[in-house]
Amino acid sequence: MTSAIPTSKNSLDDANKLPLQNGRQDGIEKASERIRARLLHNGASFLANDNISEYIEPDELQELQSEVADRLRDLLNTLVIDIDNDHNTEETAERVARMYIQEVFKGRYQRQPRVTSFPNVKQLDEIYTVGPITVRSACSHHLVPIMGHCWIGIKPGTTVIGLSKFARVADWVFSRPHIQEEAVMILADEIERLCEPQGLGIILKAQHYCMKLRGVKEAHTSMVNSVVRGDFRHDPSLKQEFFELVRQQETALVR
Ligand SMILES: [Zn+2]
Repeated sequence: MTSAIPTSKNSLDDANKLPLQNGRQDGIEKASERIRARLLHNGASFLANDNISEYIEPDELQELQSEVADRLRDLLNTLVIDIDNDHNTEETAERVARMYIQEVFKGRYQRQPRVTSFPNVKQLDEIYTVGPITVRSACSHHLVPIMGHCWIGIKPGTTVIGLSKFARVADWVFSRPHIQEEAVMILADEIERLCEPQGLGIILKAQHYCMKLRGVKEAHTSMVNSVVRGDFRHDPSLKQEFFELVRQQETALVR
């Protein structure tokens, strides 16, 4: 069984609401405007932490990246940086555009990594945890890094997915501008969709560079939040077991 690609908020169940394969025909020159027109036409959400890949045609991403580089060049000029003569910033616009589209924000523009789920033939129902999974994200407010780790706990349902898939899906979800509170919810939605566990828990511990680099300049503060669903929510002992397993994983990591 292979999962469907659409993501949480812009999932398109309705066959009539397929993305417009046009925009160019309408004479819309800029890739960003064509993509926005399709999103608006379908009433799809395109918030910073949404995935919009199903509204982007395969050859449009490179075009979008060039457009972003143009705007970044405008930004550098507006910051009164002499990009024509400064060898250090000469190609910064192109580098940053590539970094946004292909790396740091790729989870907005690329489709979900393929995840195959398997039937839980042995009817496993003991909980297990996966972690630490490295979290690399950026805050929606300042676009500076959020770096940390997350742990995922599962009480399996009727299907299971491979362990490495949790890390791949997490990377895809976190590679968008986020606020931490929403990031765990979006990851939980995706994992529920992929393997429908009886119980799910996620703990995310991260440092926010908008607190380290600027503002209060607190170098060591981290934020920890969690989400528990299904049996983890209803059964306090299971929830306790999940937090205890994660604590053991963390202790093992320190040694
Ligand atoms: Zn911030």
